[in-house]
Amino acid sequence: MSDHSNDRSARIRGLTIPRSLLPADGRFGSGPSRVRSAQVDALVAASGSVLGTSHRQAPVKNVVKRVRTGLAELFSLPEGYEVVLGNGGSTAFWDVAALGLIERRSQHLVCGEFSQKFATEVRDAPHLEDPEVIRAEPGALPSPVSSPDVDAYAWAQNETSTGVMAPVRRPEGAGTEQLVLIDATSAAGGVMVDPTQADAYYFAPQKAFASDGGLWLAVLSPAAIERAERIAAQGAHWIPSILSLTTAIENSRKDQTLNTPAVSTLVLMAEQIEWMNEQGGLAWADSRTRETSGLLYEWAARREEVTPFVDDPSARSQVVATLDISEEIDATAITSVLRAHGVVDIEPYRKLGRNQVRIATFPAVPPEDVRALIAVLDHVLDASA
Ligand SMILES: *Cc1c(COP(=O)(O)O)cnc(C)c1O
Repeated sequence: MSDHSNDRSARIRGLTIPRSLLPADGRFGSGPSRVRSAQVDALVAASGSVLGTSHRQAPVKNVVKRVRTGLAELFSLPEGYEVVLGNGGSTAFWDVAALGLIERRSQHLVCGEFSQKFATEVRDAPHLEDPEVIRAEPGALPSPVSSPDVDAYAWAQNETSTGVMAPVRRPEGAGTEQLVLIDATSAAGGVMVDPTQADAYYFAPQKAFASDGGLWLAVLSPAAIERAERIAAQGAHWIPSILSLTTAIENSRKDQTLNTPAVSTLVLMAEQIEWMNEQGGLAWADSRTRETSGLLYEWAARREEVTPFVDDPSARSQVVATLDISEEIDATAITSVLRAHGVVDIEPYRKLGRNQVRIATFPAVPPEDVRALIAVLDHVLDASA
């Protein structure tokens, strides 16, 4: 870096940002993400009657039911599709799928840390063949290629580590017996989807649903349920009960989980799903995240110091905007001065290692806070020039 750049970064680190510019809420993280105060109020309201009570009794089972029926409404699920949940987050669901949904071999689109992790997990599973991997450089979007040699296709609707968003569409030429497994962890609830284009559309509560971590949720098609039941019945390999999809399906039908779930996570999530449905459902959430992410991409187009990391505008995420900062400014100067002012978690994905900011625009983040964030960033860049 030149002396000039060090000057600019040093000036940024020393700035005081006027209070009047700051957003009402400074949480812009990609997960855990901001929780709305109405959700926390719901938690307080549930404190006597739900929190601290048995997960096998009506009060908690009713919260699970609200989550399941609320999601069925949000995604307009057709007959036969089921909402299933279990403990362990999306990371656990990768193993659930490796043990109970992929039969012999899968195809994976890899374009960042999360999509890589699932491919690696499958590669290491002793009962599965090495997967077909279609890779793209970070920031780019790979496409599935129909292959007669696989029984499942897997990709992430939103690769949270890079801010690349992928269509959810069955690969052209894919057979009806081939399942589509979509990691929708950070997209679900914030991006429109046609649920019939996937067989397992799985996610966790701490991203667009503004809740806490620890659970996985999956929308399963009739074909996925049938596959899970067939693999379990064949008994060709051991499936630990905590990772058994058929066990999760049976429990979910009774609004339960195999073992104790985080009840407060479920309460926060139920509240957020119902709020989204009241606002206008997934169409509303989708248009809101398009608007808020659009504000950031328009801002990047205006500022010479800022460039969207994802070249292809159609692959730019509407829920996680990744923006490269020109080399003359150290992006950590920006993220640290913002953090000192309560504007947090816009650091890039730790392993991506770019001079970048990453800003989540999940449905809980209102346009006025994104506008305020942009004003803060403008202030910081202008004051350092
Ligand atoms: C956050 C994230 C995960 C991991 O979720 P956990 O609930 O922490 O296991 C997986 N995939 C994507 C795309 C994510 O954004």
